[in-house]
Amino acid sequence: MLVIGLTGGIGSGKSTVSALLAAKGAVVVDADAIVRDVQQPGTPVFDAMVERFGPGIVAGDGALDRAAVAEVVFNDAQALADLNAIVHPAVGAEIVRRMEQLADTDEVVVLDVPLLVESKNAYPVAGLLVVDVDPELAIRRLVEHRGMSEGDVRARMARQASRDERLARADHVIDNSGTLDDLRAQVDVAWDWIENLKAPSRDR
Ligand code: ADP
Repeated sequence: MLVIGLTGGIGSGKSTVSALLAAKGAVVVDADAIVRDVQQPGTPVFDAMVERFGPGIVAGDGALDRAAVAEVVFNDAQALADLNAIVHPAVGAEIVRRMEQLADTDEVVVLDVPLLVESKNAYPVAGLLVVDVDPELAIRRLVEHRGMSEGDVRARMARQASRDERLARADHVIDNSGTLDDLRAQVDVAWDWIENLKAPSRDR
């Protein structure tokens, strides 16, 4: 397998790029989806979260009330650290488990981890792909297309790595300042870059 890290700020277009890469044949390992999986009712992570934060984080249907969790950790650094200490090891273990299953295949594995640049123990990747866009444009898109509030988006951005920090770590950059057609063309170029990483000696 060839592992490519995919990251980008909120609203950069990371999910859109991830879907386009999947359409090209990549296996996407989506950290956000894994977070939701390991927090299903009845899992050790779910139980530990309720133990730490109380029954107020459980919705009427017995599932996790994500908005309530966000509320609890929003202005409480210790609560956020505790949440991460509960959730991150389980997510990391699941990512490793999926990687091990794919290790002996020829797949291109795209590791879609929003906080790949921020996380201390970044997973070993052959290359880091960063989706880049002016944060103000990202905010406009999220407010217009996803109905998020501008204040919420800005608060989330403040907790992420800066645009410059991400770009400094990038091995290949996808510029998403244009149209969706422009983005598709950029993904074509990125796929060529990935194929070259896969077969570096092909043209030699
Ligand atoms: P992320 O996963 O990085 O938060 P998304 O891929 O969900 O970002 O994109 C954020 C929003 O912007 C979505 O509604 C998406 O459809 C829209 N979007 C992404 N790229 C473009 C683009 N080039 N032009 C217009 N809208 C876009």
